[in-house]
Amino acid sequence: MSRIFDEDLQFACGTRAVHAGQRPDPTSGAIMTPIFQTSTYAQSALGVNTGYEYARGKNPTREALERNIATLEGGTHGFAFASGMGTIDSIMKLFKSGDRILCADNMYGGTPRLFDRILVNMGLQFTYVDTREPQRVADAMTPDVRAIIVETPTNPLMWITDLTAIGEIAKRHGAMFIVDNTFATPVFQRPLEHGADIVFHSATKYLNGHSDMVGGCAVVKDDDLAARLQFILNAAGAVPGPFDAWLVLRGTKTLHLRMAAHDASGRRIASWLAERLGDERVFYPGLASHPHHALAARQMSGFGGMISFEMGSLAAAAGVANRLRIFTLAESLGGVESLICHPASMTHASVPIERRARLGISDGLLRLSVGVEDVQDLMNDIDQAFEGVS
Ligand SMILES: *Cc1c(COP(=O)(O)O)cnc(C)c1O
Repeated sequence: MSRIFDEDLQFACGTRAVHAGQRPDPTSGAIMTPIFQTSTYAQSALGVNTGYEYARGKNPTREALERNIATLEGGTHGFAFASGMGTIDSIMKLFKSGDRILCADNMYGGTPRLFDRILVNMGLQFTYVDTREPQRVADAMTPDVRAIIVETPTNPLMWITDLTAIGEIAKRHGAMFIVDNTFATPVFQRPLEHGADIVFHSATKYLNGHSDMVGGCAVVKDDDLAARLQFILNAAGAVPGPFDAWLVLRGTKTLHLRMAAHDASGRRIASWLAERLGDERVFYPGLASHPHHALAARQMSGFGGMISFEMGSLAAAAGVANRLRIFTLAESLGGVESLICHPASMTHASVPIERRARLGISDGLLRLSVGVEDVQDLMNDIDQAFEGVS
């Protein structure tokens, strides 16, 4: 855990992204936080140390990242973990056998896999709800619900959940409100401002932004909750190495610039796809035809570069995916390079087929992570891939 430097809060998002949480290294003046590649720290006498004792608990490189992301999210304490899944797993250790967690249907595929195949065996209980309708969440609140977890926009269908409405329901029932903010990033959406208690990320995606590491992080604004999470972080130990923390820190310095580029290209490609395929086959919250466009525009300041579209059949989807030349067929998202993914056989293959069908993750669905290449080249690439398919 690292507490933010309060004076960083006077600055706007872009300035925070570059500077928050870091000060030039006092021993050398190094402008970039050094990679403190160490497992332990010398103590000058019995009981006398620098505040650093063992690197599972604290590492200066990790701390700079933790403060940086905490400031961007508008929280007070940040935590870096070894992966997005390691982050959720550590957050779940706040709960105990018999507790029930209410989760959004249509979360990242690995999340229900962790819940339904591992954590249920430890006595946690999970209920899945379509959180697009706050009333359904209110109706599902039984006395044993200790937390509500949502992701918005969702992966891959870009469903939007009303954060303020769900935050109020959680508060009314004394449940913790936890939000996966991986897709929007704090540049476009800050769940803590809408009543969330914990916001977390797969830092592997936009925060790092360069597809060169796996990591996660969480941010809170309550001191007691921060102390409990720090205890779990140190006791359970799902921490990142200093080099991976440094790579994310390097990434967050350009987060605001990259998100602006992903968003500008995402909007152009989504409207162009909607013209070609029809509104009902393109899923992007920035399109006026998206059922929750108004809500998205209210709680997000940009829509980003994630777009899904329906090709109608596995053969058509495969035809497009296999013909693309700039978009690379790969899992993951949020990097500078554009990727295409077939959720049914890739990221969501672990979701049981009935649930996939219910959610609308069909065999013809494709998902784009629009990178920061020249947008005209990207559209030309999709254009040539469509030829001979439809
Ligand atoms: C990738 C992802 C995760 C899991 O994170 P890892 O870093 O791969 O462990 C969780 N949530 C969302 C929305 C993701 O995209």
